[in-house]
Amino acid sequence: MAELVPIPLAVLLRRAFLEYEREGKIFDLPKSKFFLGFPGLDLSVDFHGRRASTPLGPAAGPHGQLAQNIVLSWLGGARIIELKTVQILDELKIPRPCIDIANVGYNVEWSQELKLEQSLREYVGAAMFLEILKASKLLGEDVPSGTVLDMSVGYSLEGIRSPRVRNWIAAMRNSAAIVDELRAGLDGPFARYRDLPFPACTSDTISLSTFHGCPAGEIEGIVTFLLAEMGCHVCIKLNPTLLGREEVEHLLHGVLGYHEIQLHGPAFENDLKFDEALDLIPRLQRLAADRGRGLSVKFTNTLVVKNHKSFFSDELMYMSGAPLHVLAMNLLKKFRARQRTPVAASFSGGIDARNVARAVALDLVPVTSCTDLLRPGGYARLARYLENLAAEMRALGAADIPGFILRYRNQAAAASNDAGEAGLLNTPILVDEAAADPRYRWERNKGAPRKIGSKLWLYDCIDCDKCVPVCPNDANFVYETEPRGIEYDNYELLAGGAVRRMPGGALRVVKERQFANWADACNECGNCDVFCPEDGGPYNEKPRFFGSLETYREHAGPNGFYIDWKERRIHGAFGGLRCVLSLRPRSGRAFMEQDGVEVEIRLGDNQAVAWKPRPGAASPPHFFDMLPYLKLKLLFESIGDPRRVHFANVNLPEVTDAG
Ligand code: SF4
Ligand code: SF4
Repeated sequence: MAELVPIPLAVLLRRAFLEYEREGKIFDLPKSKFFLGFPGLDLSVDFHGRRASTPLGPAAGPHGQLAQNIVLSWLGGARIIELKTVQILDELKIPRPCIDIANVGYNVEWSQELKLEQSLREYVGAAMFLEILKASKLLGEDVPSGTVLDMSVGYSLEGIRSPRVRNWIAAMRNSAAIVDELRAGLDGPFARYRDLPFPACTSDTISLSTFHGCPAGEIEGIVTFLLAEMGCHVCIKLNPTLLGREEVEHLLHGVLGYHEIQLHGPAFENDLKFDEALDLIPRLQRLAADRGRGLSVKFTNTLVVKNHKSFFSDELMYMSGAPLHVLAMNLLKKFRARQRTPVAASFSGGIDARNVARAVALDLVPVTSCTDLLRPGGYARLARYLENLAAEMRALGAADIPGFILRYRNQAAAASNDAGEAGLLNTPILVDEAAADPRYRWERNKGAPRKIGSKLWLYDCIDCDKCVPVCPNDANFVYETEPRGIEYDNYELLAGGAVRRMPGGALRVVKERQFANWADACNECGNCDVFCPEDGGPYNEKPRFFGSLETYREHAGPNGFYIDWKERRIHGAFGGLRCVLSLRPRSGRAFMEQDGVEVEIRLGDNQAVAWKPRPGAASPPHFFDMLPYLKLKLLFESIGDPRRVHFANVNLPEVTDAG
C-alpha cells in the first residue's frame, strides 16, 4: 500500500503558479470556482477572537490533511480550516478503502496519516503558501483573506500530554523555526518571498476529538491542559450519542427511515452523558475566561454504527451526511434549550450548498463540511455554498453575518438586535424544519453512483472527469496524448545478441485526454472508485506515478511508474514485470531492461536491433514483448507534455521553462 509523501512547499508553489498561468487552475480547481468575495457583502465572522473572512470550513478530515488540500479549501472560500486530527499514534495502519460516500457517507478513517513532524511542516507550509498567494496578488488585490487554521487533536489525556504532542502543539503556536526552515527552501521565482513576514503562530485554537467512551473527567482534564498549560482556545467536539439511544433511534429509524443502520450500544453506554456535558461546559468556560481563552462546542462528530455493508472490513464504521445533519441539529436544539450559559458553537454534519445559509443563521461558527466535498466537483462545490449564502443575505437586505442572523426569521426585535440571541431563537424553528425535510430521509439518499459495467485500463475511459475533483488530495490528474494505433512486432532473442521478428500486436489509444494518479498523494481511500462509472478504481488501474525511485521500488506493486527526467529514464511495473526504459534521442536509440535482458531499440520505427543479458541475470528468456516498451515510451512523452502541469512533470525543466 502506498504511503502519503508530502510534496515540498517549493514544488507546490511552482505547480500552482504555472498551472494558473497556463490553464487558469490551481491544483485542478478552475479559477471560476475561487472565492474572491462579493461586492457589498461582509461574510466575516469572529472565531476565538480572530477574524475569518467567511464562516465556512472543511471539517477535520481529508480536506485538511495535506498542504494542497488546505490551499484548495481556501481557494473555494473556506476561511476557518480544521486541520486533520493529530495524535500520539502517528504510524497507524488504516484499512483501505476507508471512505464510502456512495450515498449516506461512511468512513473508517482516523487521524493524520503523516507523522507528527510531517504534519507540522504540512500545516506551516500551507499557511506560508497562503501568505505568498496573497503577497503575489495572483488572485487580485481584494480577496477577503482573513483565515484561521484550527488544530484538531485527539484522543486521550495521556496521548495529548505526551512530550511529542505537547511539543507539536507548541510548535504550531510558535512556528518560527519551521517557517525559517521552509523559507530557506523558497527558490527560483519564489525566492523573493523569503523575507515575507510570515506569522510565527500557525494556530492557537484546538478542536478536541475524544474516543468514544471517553469519561467526562478525562475530557475535563484534556481541556484544562489545553487551556491552562498549552494556552490554546478550545472547541470540544460532541458526539451525537449525547442525544441518547432512544432519541437517535427515533430520528434515524422513525423519522428518517434509515432502518438498515444499526446503532452500536456501547457507544451510548460509555460516552459522555447529556447532563454531564451541561455541568462540564460552564465549568470549562469559566476556566477559559480566567485564562483569557475561548471555549466552544461543536455539533457533532460522526456517529459510530455497526458495519452493515461490505465496503469496509471493520466491524464498526462512522456515519456522516444527511442523517447526521438531522441528528446534529437536534442535539444543538436540545443543548441550546438547556444550556446554563450561552456557549459559542460550530457545526458539522451533512452540510451542503443548500443548508449552509440556514446553519449560518443559527449563529454557528464555523459551519464545516466534509462528506459533501467528497462528491463530484469536490472543492468546487464550496463556491455554490457561498453563492447561496450571499444570495440569501441579499434577499434579506443583510450586509453582514450578524445582520443576516437577525433578519433570517425576523428575529431582530425579539432578540433585541442581538445576533447571538436571534441564532438561539432560530434554532427550534430551523431544526424542526430540517427534521421534517424529505431531503434528509432514506428515500432520497438510498441511491448509489451509477456503474456502467465496463472495466478501466491503463489507457482510455469514458472521460467523465469525476476522479480528479473527488480526490481530496488532488492525486488524480489529466494528461494528454495523441490518439494512435501502433502496430508492433515482438522478437525472438537469438544467440549472440541477434533478434528475429515475430508476430506482435497493436497498442491502441483512442482518447486524447488520459488520466493518471500521483501515488505519493494517494492514500488509497477509495473515493474515486466510488464515483468512477467504470470498474477497477482509477487509483488502481490508471498509471500510478511515484516521486522517487525509493517509493516506486517499495510501493509500485503491479502498477507503478517513476520518471527520472534528468536521465531520460522511466521505470514501470506491469503486473509482476518490472522494466526500465532509457531514451537516447541523440543516438536515436532506446534501451529497455526487462526480464533479465537489455534490448536495444531504434526510436524512429520502434524496431529491436540487438539484445544482451543483464549482469547477474539468470538464464535469459527467448522472447521479448514490445508492448511494455511502447507503453513506457508513450507515458514518458505524454507526461512530459508541458501543456499540462501536474505533480508528475512539475520538476521537468521543459515544463517549468515552457510558456
Ligand atoms: S486518488 Fe482516489 S483513492 Fe487516491 S486519495 Fe484520491 S480519491 Fe482516494
Ligand atoms: S477514470 Fe473513471 S472517473 Fe476518471 S475520468 Fe475515467 S471514467 Fe471518469
